[in-house]
Amino acid sequence: MHPSIALVNSATESVGGRRVDALDSPESVRAWLLARDLIDSDGVLYEYCQGRIVALRENLRELFTARVGGEEPPPETVDAVNRALTSAPGALLLRFDAGQGFTRRADHPATQVIEHVSAVVAEDAAALLAGEDASILAQCEADGCRRFFLRTHARRQWCSTRCGDRVRAARAYARRRAAGSR
Ligand SMILES: [Zn+2]
Repeated sequence: MHPSIALVNSATESVGGRRVDALDSPESVRAWLLARDLIDSDGVLYEYCQGRIVALRENLRELFTARVGGEEPPPETVDAVNRALTSAPGALLLRFDAGQGFTRRADHPATQVIEHVSAVVAEDAAALLAGEDASILAQCEADGCRRFFLRTHARRQWCSTRCGDRVRAARAYARRRAAGSR
């Protein structure tokens, strides 16, 4: 899974129009990043970190939306993503120690955790948007779902089986209603 797609999908309009945001506090940002191995367990996040990652999410959503719609993205959004891309070294350095063997970890001051995460996610987005997979980037067609996904099968219209089931159930209900009203 692309971390950039996961980030954009971390806020959605759920059924009934209620916005669900997995990044609504610094603590939830930390839990979300930990669950995706994007930070170390000793990584410290501050209040402003939430603002940084949420801003990156909105910028990436604009670029993904432009790509899917075949539209030109706002140049300032591309600039913002480039700033995230270069705000900290995104590369994980190779380490060796006798106990663990080779490992890779970020080399950055503890105060740059969010800059590093932003660089890693922006790098993933840049590679996705400029690469072959950009042509299969798609947005879920289910009502109330704004998630992006890679259309790995030509006929796939939904981000998940849950959305597909929901749409099929709604269509079946509409058909039954139409048949009943005749
Ligand atoms: Zn969906």
